[in-house]
Amino acid sequence: MGRVYNFSAGPAVLPEEVLKEAAEEMLDYKGTGMSVMEMSHRSKAYETIINDAEQDLRDLLQIPDNYKVLFLQGGASQQFAMIPMNLMKNKVADYIITGQWAKKAYQEAKLYGTANAIASSADKTFSYIPDCSDLPISEDADYVYICENNTIYGTKFKTLPNTKGKTLVADVSSCFLSEPMDISKYGLVYGGVQKNVGPAGVVIVIIREDLITDDTLPGTPTMLKYKIHDENNSLYNTPPAYGIYICGKVFKWLKKLGGLEVMKEINEKKAAVLYDFLDQSKLFKGTVVKEDRSLMNVPFVTGNEELDAKFVKEAKAAGFENLKGHRSVGGMRASIYNAMPIEGVEKLVEFMQKFEEENLK
Ligand SMILES: *Cc1c(COP(=O)(O)O)cnc(C)c1O
Repeated sequence: MGRVYNFSAGPAVLPEEVLKEAAEEMLDYKGTGMSVMEMSHRSKAYETIINDAEQDLRDLLQIPDNYKVLFLQGGASQQFAMIPMNLMKNKVADYIITGQWAKKAYQEAKLYGTANAIASSADKTFSYIPDCSDLPISEDADYVYICENNTIYGTKFKTLPNTKGKTLVADVSSCFLSEPMDISKYGLVYGGVQKNVGPAGVVIVIIREDLITDDTLPGTPTMLKYKIHDENNSLYNTPPAYGIYICGKVFKWLKKLGGLEVMKEINEKKAAVLYDFLDQSKLFKGTVVKEDRSLMNVPFVTGNEELDAKFVKEAKAAGFENLKGHRSVGGMRASIYNAMPIEGVEKLVEFMQKFEEENLK
């Protein structure tokens, strides 16, 4: 059996070129006689892997020199706690609730201090991004938190909130490296890599130097201090070494493609194939307000649960995998990350067209 079109929200499709290269290097990485999986993280060969990965990421995002890049473990969810533990000096933070991941981060922050929900789109099932131009930012807020791309609901912040001078913290797990971003606008950006960058188990944190301090909340475990990982170049303990190696390959793949401007163009073109179809379809419709649509996650429905289930089943049989919507919202969701080829989306739309003709009464 060949490879399917995998529309999973995460872990998700990776570039075939990267997987093939990793397969070729599986038994003998560049003459070392061993797999990267078997290699000491203190070896010369691994040092090159992690340093190159960092440099390539810096090149792709044009990360300013006063920001550190950390390759950590625990997924994106570990950051829900690590951020307040390290950044809540006044024990106050403001959260913008645009979906489940933002809500989870908000609830976790409450364990450590005062977390204020200063805006939310819960009233319309998170189908839009609230106006964040003039929010009641707390005077003593240590940071303002957003989830920039909402994986489950398919919304994305197209303009960053006005934080009124406070540090902006963003979860970019599901839009990481899908387009250029101006890192200098944030204090901290992080992403679990299994959505767009690599295998689950790695989370990348990009943090402004001045936010890395010894002044963490009492009881913060050593492993959850940014400072310890920064001082040790992400090698305080054994890192998720193989995962970082794959991330590094994906960075090189992106560079070879032409970088994030080119990636963005491809992603816009790709998403338009699906959105344009949804906008004229008599059976399917997108669930998100047009101006807030994500380029990465596209939820849609037929309006009939039985028909949704039939669609997901028939799509699977035709080689389109993981189109079922998140269990909390139902319907369908096509995640069309960087590594999803445009042919995958074109073929999906053809299939949807056919399904529509057959099922529209
Ligand atoms: C998937 C996801 C998470 C959770 O990631 P884990 O690595 O499983 O903890 C958090 N935020 C966003 C936006 C996500 O898409």
